[in-house]
Amino acid sequence: MKTTWDIIIIGGGPGGLFAALEAAKAGKSVLLCERKREMGIPVRCGEAVGKEDFANYLPMEPRWIGSEINTFIIVPPNGKEIKLKKDLYSGYVINRDLFEYDIAARAAEAGVQIKMKANVQELIHSDDGSVSGVRVMESGKMHEYYAKIVIAADGVESRISRQMGIQTVLKPENIEPCVQVTASGIHLPEKALYLYIGTCYAPGGYAWVFPKANNCANIGLGINGKYSSNTNCAKDYMDRFLDRFFPDASIQRYVTGGVPVTTNLKRLTQDNFMIVGDAGHMVNPLNGGGITHAIYSGIIAGKAAAASCDDPQKMKICFSKYEKEIYRKFGKNHEHQSKIKEVVYQMNDDDYNRIGGEFLKLDDSKRNFLNLFKQVVKHKPEFLINVVRAFSGI
Ligand SMILES: Cc1cc2nc3c(=O)[nH]c(=O)nc-3n(C[C@H](O)[C@H](O)[C@H](O)COP(=O)(O)OP(=O)(O)OC[C@H]3O[C@@H](n4cnc5c(N)ncnc54)[C@H](O)[C@@H]3O)c2cc1C
Repeated sequence: MKTTWDIIIIGGGPGGLFAALEAAKAGKSVLLCERKREMGIPVRCGEAVGKEDFANYLPMEPRWIGSEINTFIIVPPNGKEIKLKKDLYSGYVINRDLFEYDIAARAAEAGVQIKMKANVQELIHSDDGSVSGVRVMESGKMHEYYAKIVIAADGVESRISRQMGIQTVLKPENIEPCVQVTASGIHLPEKALYLYIGTCYAPGGYAWVFPKANNCANIGLGINGKYSSNTNCAKDYMDRFLDRFFPDASIQRYVTGGVPVTTNLKRLTQDNFMIVGDAGHMVNPLNGGGITHAIYSGIIAGKAAAASCDDPQKMKICFSKYEKEIYRKFGKNHEHQSKIKEVVYQMNDDDYNRIGGEFLKLDDSKRNFLNLFKQVVKHKPEFLINVVRAFSGI
Protein backbone atom coordinates (compact mmCIF):
# COMPACT_ATOMS: atom_id res chain seq x y z
CA MET A 1 0.00 0.00 0.00
CA LYS A 2 1.29 3.46 -0.94
CA THR A 3 2.19 5.49 2.15
CA THR A 4 4.16 8.44 0.79
CA TRP A 5 3.04 11.38 -1.38
CA ASP A 6 4.44 14.78 -2.33
CA ILE A 7 1.48 16.57 -0.75
CA ILE A 8 -1.23 15.52 1.71
CA ILE A 9 -4.42 17.56 1.98
CA ILE A 10 -6.72 17.33 4.99
CA GLY A 11 -10.35 18.06 4.10
CA GLY A 12 -12.36 17.77 0.90
CA GLY A 13 -14.38 21.01 0.89
CA PRO A 14 -13.79 23.53 -1.91
CA GLY A 15 -10.45 24.63 -0.40
CA GLY A 16 -8.98 21.14 -0.19
CA LEU A 17 -10.40 19.95 -3.50
CA PHE A 18 -8.96 22.85 -5.48
CA ALA A 19 -5.59 22.63 -3.73
CA ALA A 20 -5.48 18.92 -4.62
CA LEU A 21 -6.55 19.50 -8.21
CA GLU A 22 -3.92 22.21 -8.83
CA ALA A 23 -1.09 20.26 -7.25
CA ALA A 24 -1.95 17.12 -9.24
CA LYS A 25 -2.25 19.12 -12.47
CA ALA A 26 1.31 20.31 -11.80
CA GLY A 27 2.44 16.68 -11.78
CA LYS A 28 2.74 16.06 -8.03
CA SER A 29 1.47 13.01 -6.17
CA VAL A 30 -1.38 14.04 -3.88
CA LEU A 31 -3.42 12.35 -1.17
CA LEU A 32 -6.66 13.96 0.02
CA CYS A 33 -8.21 12.69 3.28
CA GLU A 34 -11.87 13.50 3.95
CA ARG A 35 -13.62 12.29 7.08
CA LYS A 36 -17.14 12.30 5.60
CA ARG A 37 -18.51 9.22 3.90
CA GLU A 38 -19.74 11.02 0.77
CA MET A 39 -18.15 13.95 -1.03
CA GLY A 40 -20.25 17.14 -0.80
CA ILE A 41 -22.77 15.71 1.68
CA PRO A 42 -24.18 17.01 3.92
CA VAL A 43 -24.45 20.46 2.39
CA ARG A 44 -23.79 22.92 5.17
CA CYS A 45 -24.13 26.15 3.23
CA GLY A 46 -26.50 28.75 1.77
CA GLU A 47 -24.95 27.84 -1.64
CA ALA A 48 -25.00 31.41 -2.98
CA VAL A 49 -22.14 32.55 -5.21
CA GLY A 50 -21.69 35.66 -7.35
CA LYS A 51 -21.63 34.92 -11.09
CA GLU A 52 -18.57 36.98 -11.92
CA ASP A 53 -16.72 35.92 -8.84
CA PHE A 54 -17.24 32.23 -9.61
CA ALA A 55 -16.33 32.70 -13.28
CA ASN A 56 -12.90 33.97 -12.20
CA TYR A 57 -12.03 30.43 -11.19
CA LEU A 58 -13.97 28.04 -13.44
CA PRO A 59 -16.90 27.89 -15.84
CA MET A 60 -20.24 27.05 -14.26
CA GLU A 61 -21.69 23.67 -15.24
CA PRO A 62 -25.48 23.53 -15.81
CA ARG A 63 -25.95 20.72 -13.27
CA TRP A 64 -24.40 22.82 -10.51
CA ILE A 65 -27.03 25.56 -10.94
CA GLY A 66 -29.87 25.38 -8.43
CA SER A 67 -31.20 28.72 -9.64
CA GLU A 68 -30.05 31.93 -11.28
CA ILE A 69 -30.61 35.11 -9.36
CA ASN A 70 -30.55 38.74 -10.40
CA THR A 71 -32.00 40.61 -7.49
CA PHE A 72 -32.07 41.01 -3.72
CA ILE A 73 -35.06 41.39 -1.47
CA ILE A 74 -34.33 42.68 2.02
CA VAL A 75 -36.96 42.02 4.66
CA PRO A 76 -36.82 44.21 7.80
CA PRO A 77 -38.42 43.11 11.09
CA ASN A 78 -41.89 44.44 10.12
CA GLY A 79 -41.89 42.05 7.12
CA LYS A 80 -42.32 44.80 4.48
CA GLU A 81 -40.13 43.62 1.61
CA ILE A 82 -37.60 45.99 0.11
CA LYS A 83 -36.91 44.91 -3.41
CA LEU A 84 -33.72 46.27 -4.86
CA LYS A 85 -33.69 47.15 -8.52
CA LYS A 86 -33.20 44.14 -10.82
CA ASP A 87 -29.81 43.43 -12.39
CA LEU A 88 -27.88 44.96 -9.50
CA TYR A 89 -26.70 41.52 -8.59
CA SER A 90 -26.20 38.40 -10.57
CA GLY A 91 -25.47 35.10 -8.97
CA TYR A 92 -26.39 31.50 -8.52
CA VAL A 93 -27.70 29.30 -5.80
CA ILE A 94 -25.62 26.24 -6.60
CA ASN A 95 -26.12 22.54 -5.95
CA ARG A 96 -23.06 22.33 -3.79
CA ASP A 97 -23.24 18.58 -3.32
CA LEU A 98 -23.00 18.01 -7.09
CA PHE A 99 -20.33 20.69 -7.46
CA GLU A 100 -18.02 19.12 -4.88
CA TYR A 101 -18.68 15.62 -6.18
CA ASP A 102 -17.68 16.70 -9.70
CA ILE A 103 -14.56 18.59 -8.59
CA ALA A 104 -13.49 15.53 -6.62
CA ALA A 105 -13.95 13.45 -9.80
CA ARG A 106 -11.80 15.95 -11.73
CA ALA A 107 -9.14 15.81 -9.03
CA ALA A 108 -9.15 12.00 -9.12
CA GLU A 109 -8.88 12.14 -12.91
CA ALA A 110 -5.83 14.40 -12.52
CA GLY A 111 -4.23 11.75 -10.29
CA VAL A 112 -5.27 12.70 -6.74
CA GLN A 113 -5.82 9.73 -4.46
CA ILE A 114 -8.94 10.44 -2.42
CA LYS A 115 -9.70 8.58 0.79
CA MET A 116 -13.19 8.99 2.27
CA LYS A 117 -14.00 8.15 5.89
CA ALA A 118 -10.39 9.08 6.53
CA ASN A 119 -10.35 11.15 9.71
CA VAL A 120 -6.97 12.80 10.26
CA GLN A 121 -6.25 12.52 13.97
CA GLU A 122 -2.90 14.21 14.22
CA LEU A 123 0.18 15.42 12.46
CA ILE A 124 3.42 13.46 12.56
CA HIS A 125 6.32 15.75 13.33
CA SER A 126 9.99 15.43 12.38
CA ASP A 127 12.69 16.13 14.98
CA ASP A 128 13.01 19.73 13.77
CA GLY A 129 9.28 20.36 14.40
CA SER A 130 8.25 20.36 10.75
CA VAL A 131 5.55 17.97 9.51
CA SER A 132 6.38 14.63 7.99
CA GLY A 133 2.88 13.21 7.69
CA VAL A 134 -0.49 12.47 9.26
CA ARG A 135 -2.10 9.76 11.39
CA VAL A 136 -5.46 8.85 9.96
CA MET A 137 -8.29 6.76 11.40
CA GLU A 138 -9.89 4.63 8.69
CA SER A 139 -12.50 2.00 9.50
CA GLY A 140 -11.30 1.73 13.07
CA LYS A 141 -7.61 1.38 12.12
CA MET A 142 -4.88 4.00 12.45
CA HIS A 143 -2.69 4.55 9.37
CA GLU A 144 0.37 6.73 8.89
CA TYR A 145 0.93 8.60 5.64
CA TYR A 146 3.92 10.75 4.79
CA ALA A 147 4.46 13.81 2.58
CA LYS A 148 6.79 16.73 1.93
CA ILE A 149 3.99 19.25 2.47
CA VAL A 150 0.73 18.99 4.43
CA ILE A 151 -2.17 21.36 3.70
CA ALA A 152 -4.93 21.87 6.29
CA ALA A 153 -8.27 22.50 4.55
CA ASP A 154 -10.26 21.21 7.49
CA GLY A 155 -12.69 24.09 7.85
CA VAL A 156 -13.67 26.46 10.62
CA GLU A 157 -11.67 26.14 13.88
CA SER A 158 -9.13 23.91 12.13
CA ARG A 159 -8.08 21.49 14.84
CA ILE A 160 -5.12 20.33 12.80
CA SER A 161 -3.56 23.80 12.46
CA ARG A 162 -3.51 24.11 16.24
CA GLN A 163 -1.09 21.19 16.33
CA MET A 164 1.35 23.47 14.46
CA GLY A 165 0.93 26.13 17.14
CA ILE A 166 -1.31 28.29 14.96
CA GLN A 167 -4.16 29.81 16.94
CA THR A 168 -7.45 29.06 15.14
CA VAL A 169 -9.88 29.06 18.07
CA LEU A 170 -12.54 31.72 17.59
CA LYS A 171 -14.03 33.94 20.28
CA PRO A 172 -17.86 33.71 20.47
CA GLU A 173 -18.22 37.13 18.79
CA ASN A 174 -16.11 35.96 15.85
CA ILE A 175 -18.21 32.99 14.91
CA GLU A 176 -21.79 32.67 13.73
CA PRO A 177 -23.56 29.49 14.73
CA CYS A 178 -25.91 28.67 11.84
CA VAL A 179 -28.86 26.44 11.19
CA GLN A 180 -29.72 25.61 7.61
CA VAL A 181 -32.45 23.54 6.02
CA THR A 182 -33.35 22.43 2.54
CA ALA A 183 -37.10 22.72 2.26
CA SER A 184 -39.71 21.99 -0.39
CA GLY A 185 -43.14 23.49 -0.93
CA ILE A 186 -41.65 26.98 -0.86
CA HIS A 187 -43.53 29.17 -3.36
CA LEU A 188 -41.58 32.39 -3.68
CA PRO A 189 -42.91 35.18 -5.88
CA GLU A 190 -39.42 36.00 -7.20
CA LYS A 191 -36.14 34.25 -7.99
CA ALA A 192 -34.35 36.56 -5.58
CA LEU A 193 -32.00 36.28 -2.63
CA TYR A 194 -34.22 37.07 0.35
CA LEU A 195 -32.28 38.46 3.29
CA TYR A 196 -34.10 39.00 6.61
CA ILE A 197 -32.28 41.55 8.71
CA GLY A 198 -33.20 42.39 12.28
CA THR A 199 -32.50 41.24 15.80
CA CYS A 200 -35.89 39.49 15.90
CA TYR A 201 -34.72 37.17 13.10
CA ALA A 202 -31.03 36.74 13.81
CA PRO A 203 -29.15 39.10 16.15
CA GLY A 204 -25.72 39.97 14.79
CA GLY A 205 -26.40 38.01 11.61
CA TYR A 206 -29.25 37.45 9.19
CA ALA A 207 -31.69 34.87 7.93
CA TRP A 208 -31.79 33.87 4.29
CA VAL A 209 -34.16 32.22 1.86
CA PHE A 210 -32.46 31.23 -1.38
CA PRO A 211 -34.70 29.66 -4.03
CA LYS A 212 -33.76 26.46 -5.83
CA ALA A 213 -35.49 24.41 -8.53
CA ASN A 214 -38.91 22.74 -8.07
CA ASN A 215 -40.14 25.09 -5.33
CA CYS A 216 -37.29 24.07 -3.05
CA ALA A 217 -35.27 26.58 -1.10
CA ASN A 218 -32.17 26.77 0.98
CA ILE A 219 -33.30 28.48 4.19
CA GLY A 220 -31.07 29.32 7.10
CA LEU A 221 -29.82 31.80 9.60
CA GLY A 222 -26.73 32.65 11.55
CA ILE A 223 -26.59 34.65 14.77
CA ASN A 224 -23.51 36.19 16.30
CA GLY A 225 -22.04 33.78 18.83
CA LYS A 226 -22.26 36.33 21.64
CA TYR A 227 -26.08 36.18 21.42
CA SER A 228 -26.24 32.41 21.61
CA SER A 229 -27.32 30.79 24.86
CA ASN A 230 -28.71 27.43 25.92
CA THR A 231 -32.21 28.87 26.02
CA ASN A 232 -32.00 31.01 22.87
CA CYS A 233 -29.69 29.57 20.25
CA ALA A 234 -29.70 29.60 16.43
CA LYS A 235 -32.11 26.66 16.37
CA ASP A 236 -34.67 28.58 18.48
CA TYR A 237 -34.45 31.56 16.12
CA MET A 238 -34.83 29.20 13.16
CA ASP A 239 -37.90 27.50 14.62
CA ARG A 240 -39.54 30.91 15.12
CA PHE A 241 -38.52 32.03 11.63
CA LEU A 242 -40.00 28.96 9.96
CA ASP A 243 -43.18 29.22 12.05
CA ARG A 244 -43.64 32.85 11.02
CA PHE A 245 -42.86 32.62 7.29
CA PHE A 246 -43.01 28.98 6.18
CA PRO A 247 -45.18 27.06 8.64
CA ASP A 248 -46.12 24.45 6.00
CA ALA A 249 -42.62 23.85 4.62
CA SER A 250 -41.43 20.25 4.31
CA ILE A 251 -37.90 20.01 5.62
CA GLN A 252 -35.68 17.54 3.76
CA ARG A 253 -32.33 18.31 5.34
CA TYR A 254 -31.42 19.99 8.59
CA VAL A 255 -27.83 20.87 9.42
CA THR A 256 -25.94 23.12 11.78
CA GLY A 257 -22.56 24.75 11.25
CA GLY A 258 -20.35 27.66 12.11
CA VAL A 259 -19.04 30.52 10.01
CA PRO A 260 -15.91 32.44 11.01
CA VAL A 261 -16.76 36.15 10.81
CA THR A 262 -13.51 37.85 11.60
CA THR A 263 -10.37 38.94 9.84
CA ASN A 264 -8.17 36.42 8.03
CA LEU A 265 -5.45 34.60 9.89
CA LYS A 266 -2.20 36.33 8.96
CA ARG A 267 -0.14 33.26 9.60
CA LEU A 268 -1.13 30.67 7.02
CA THR A 269 2.08 28.64 6.83
CA GLN A 270 4.58 27.11 9.20
CA ASP A 271 7.64 25.18 7.95
CA ASN A 272 6.15 22.78 5.37
CA PHE A 273 2.53 23.23 6.50
CA MET A 274 -0.14 25.43 4.88
CA ILE A 275 -3.72 26.48 5.66
CA VAL A 276 -6.51 27.21 3.15
CA GLY A 277 -10.15 28.36 3.21
CA ASP A 278 -12.23 28.52 6.38
CA ALA A 279 -9.36 27.03 8.35
CA GLY A 280 -7.59 30.35 7.67
CA HIS A 281 -10.79 32.34 8.48
CA MET A 282 -11.05 33.56 4.88
CA VAL A 283 -14.81 34.12 4.90
CA ASN A 284 -16.27 37.56 4.12
CA PRO A 285 -17.26 38.64 7.66
CA LEU A 286 -20.10 40.85 6.45
CA ASN A 287 -22.09 38.27 4.47
CA GLY A 288 -20.53 34.96 5.55
CA GLY A 289 -19.62 33.95 1.97
CA GLY A 290 -16.54 31.77 1.72
CA ILE A 291 -16.92 29.28 -1.15
CA THR A 292 -14.96 31.24 -3.74
CA HIS A 293 -12.45 32.39 -1.12
CA ALA A 294 -11.75 28.75 -0.32
CA ILE A 295 -11.45 27.94 -4.03
CA TYR A 296 -9.01 30.80 -4.60
CA SER A 297 -6.82 30.00 -1.61
CA GLY A 298 -6.89 26.31 -2.60
CA ILE A 299 -5.71 27.10 -6.12
CA ILE A 300 -2.89 29.38 -4.95
CA ALA A 301 -1.81 27.01 -2.17
CA GLY A 302 -1.88 23.98 -4.49
CA LYS A 303 0.31 25.78 -7.01
CA ALA A 304 2.74 27.02 -4.33
CA ALA A 305 3.03 23.57 -2.80
CA ALA A 306 3.61 21.89 -6.17
CA ALA A 307 6.22 24.44 -7.18
CA SER A 308 8.26 24.09 -4.01
CA CYS A 309 7.82 20.67 -2.42
CA ASP A 310 11.23 19.47 -3.66
CA ASP A 311 13.20 22.55 -2.60
CA PRO A 312 13.07 23.83 1.03
CA GLN A 313 14.58 27.21 0.10
CA LYS A 314 12.01 27.77 -2.63
CA MET A 315 9.31 26.62 -0.21
CA LYS A 316 10.04 29.54 2.11
CA ILE A 317 9.72 32.01 -0.76
CA CYS A 318 6.56 30.41 -2.22
CA PHE A 319 4.88 30.19 1.19
CA SER A 320 5.65 33.79 1.99
CA LYS A 321 4.19 34.79 -1.40
CA TYR A 322 1.09 32.73 -0.62
CA GLU A 323 0.49 34.55 2.66
CA LYS A 324 1.03 37.93 1.00
CA GLU A 325 -1.29 37.11 -1.89
CA ILE A 326 -4.11 35.99 0.41
CA TYR A 327 -3.72 39.15 2.47
CA ARG A 328 -3.71 41.27 -0.71
CA LYS A 329 -6.82 39.55 -2.02
CA PHE A 330 -8.93 39.34 1.16
CA GLY A 331 -7.08 40.73 4.18
CA LYS A 332 -7.70 44.47 3.97
CA ASN A 333 -11.25 44.01 2.60
CA HIS A 334 -12.17 41.70 5.43
CA GLU A 335 -10.80 44.13 8.00
CA HIS A 336 -13.09 46.84 6.57
CA GLN A 337 -16.09 44.52 6.25
CA SER A 338 -15.62 43.41 9.81
CA LYS A 339 -15.82 47.00 11.06
CA ILE A 340 -18.80 47.85 8.88
CA LYS A 341 -20.58 44.82 10.23
CA GLU A 342 -20.11 46.08 13.77
CA VAL A 343 -21.76 49.35 12.77
CA VAL A 344 -24.65 47.70 10.91
CA TYR A 345 -25.46 45.52 13.88
CA GLN A 346 -25.53 48.42 16.29
CA MET A 347 -28.90 49.35 14.74
CA ASN A 348 -32.07 48.09 16.34
CA ASP A 349 -35.26 46.74 14.78
CA ASP A 350 -36.96 50.17 14.81
CA ASP A 351 -34.03 51.60 12.86
CA TYR A 352 -34.30 48.88 10.22
CA ASN A 353 -38.07 49.37 9.94
CA ARG A 354 -37.76 53.14 9.66
CA ILE A 355 -35.02 52.99 7.03
CA GLY A 356 -37.01 50.40 5.10
CA GLY A 357 -40.16 52.57 5.26
CA GLU A 358 -38.36 55.61 3.84
CA PHE A 359 -36.72 53.54 1.11
CA LEU A 360 -40.09 52.17 0.03
CA LYS A 361 -41.30 55.73 -0.58
CA LEU A 362 -38.78 56.00 -3.43
CA ASP A 363 -39.76 55.44 -7.01
CA ASP A 364 -39.09 51.85 -8.21
CA SER A 365 -36.29 52.96 -10.53
CA LYS A 366 -34.43 54.53 -7.57
CA ARG A 367 -34.42 51.47 -5.34
CA ASN A 368 -30.75 50.60 -5.55
CA PHE A 369 -27.88 50.06 -3.11
CA LEU A 370 -26.72 53.66 -3.28
CA ASN A 371 -30.11 55.03 -2.28
CA LEU A 372 -30.44 52.43 0.46
CA PHE A 373 -27.06 53.56 1.78
CA LYS A 374 -28.24 57.19 1.64
CA GLN A 375 -31.33 56.31 3.68
CA VAL A 376 -29.16 54.60 6.28
CA VAL A 377 -26.93 57.67 6.52
CA LYS A 378 -29.94 60.00 6.72
CA HIS A 379 -31.32 58.10 9.71
CA LYS A 380 -28.01 57.22 11.28
CA PRO A 381 -25.40 59.84 10.32
CA GLU A 382 -22.91 58.09 12.59
CA PHE A 383 -23.05 55.16 10.15
CA LEU A 384 -21.18 57.21 7.54
CA ILE A 385 -18.64 58.36 10.10
CA ASN A 386 -18.02 54.78 11.12
CA VAL A 387 -17.73 53.58 7.55
CA VAL A 388 -15.18 56.32 6.84
CA ARG A 389 -13.37 55.32 10.02
CA ALA A 390 -13.42 51.68 9.00
CA PHE A 391 -11.84 52.45 5.66
CA SER A 392 -9.34 55.01 6.85
CA GLY A 393 -8.34 53.01 9.90
CA ILE A 394 -8.90 55.98 12.26
C1 LIG B 1 -24.72 27.44 7.28
C2 LIG B 1 -23.68 28.00 6.36
C3 LIG B 1 -24.08 28.74 5.25
C4 LIG B 1 -23.12 29.24 4.36
N1 LIG B 1 -23.55 29.87 3.23
C5 LIG B 1 -22.65 30.28 2.30
C6 LIG B 1 -23.07 30.85 1.06
O1 LIG B 1 -24.26 30.98 0.79
N2 LIG B 1 -22.12 31.23 0.18
C7 LIG B 1 -20.78 31.09 0.43
O2 LIG B 1 -19.95 31.48 -0.40
N3 LIG B 1 -20.35 30.55 1.60
C8 LIG B 1 -21.25 30.12 2.53
N4 LIG B 1 -20.81 29.54 3.70
C9 LIG B 1 -19.36 29.42 3.94
C10 LIG B 1 -18.79 28.27 3.11
O3 LIG B 1 -19.57 27.11 3.32
C11 LIG B 1 -17.33 28.02 3.53
O4 LIG B 1 -16.64 29.24 3.48
C12 LIG B 1 -16.65 27.00 2.63
O5 LIG B 1 -17.27 25.75 2.72
C13 LIG B 1 -15.18 26.86 3.03
O6 LIG B 1 -14.60 25.78 2.35
P1 LIG B 1 -13.40 24.96 3.02
O7 LIG B 1 -12.99 23.96 2.02
O8 LIG B 1 -12.41 25.88 3.57
O9 LIG B 1 -14.04 24.24 4.30
P2 LIG B 1 -15.23 23.21 4.39
O10 LIG B 1 -16.16 23.35 3.25
O11 LIG B 1 -15.76 23.34 5.76
O12 LIG B 1 -14.52 21.79 4.24
C14 LIG B 1 -13.72 21.26 5.25
C15 LIG B 1 -13.73 19.76 5.08
O13 LIG B 1 -12.73 19.18 5.94
C16 LIG B 1 -13.25 17.98 6.45
N5 LIG B 1 -12.49 17.71 7.69
C17 LIG B 1 -12.46 18.44 8.83
N6 LIG B 1 -11.62 17.90 9.72
C18 LIG B 1 -11.09 16.79 9.13
C19 LIG B 1 -10.17 15.81 9.56
N7 LIG B 1 -9.60 15.87 10.78
N8 LIG B 1 -9.87 14.79 8.70
C20 LIG B 1 -10.44 14.73 7.47
N9 LIG B 1 -11.33 15.63 7.03
C21 LIG B 1 -11.64 16.66 7.83
C22 LIG B 1 -14.73 18.28 6.68
O14 LIG B 1 -15.49 17.09 6.76
C23 LIG B 1 -15.06 19.12 5.47
O15 LIG B 1 -15.53 18.36 4.39
C24 LIG B 1 -21.74 29.03 4.61
C25 LIG B 1 -21.34 28.32 5.75
C26 LIG B 1 -22.30 27.79 6.61
C27 LIG B 1 -21.86 26.98 7.80
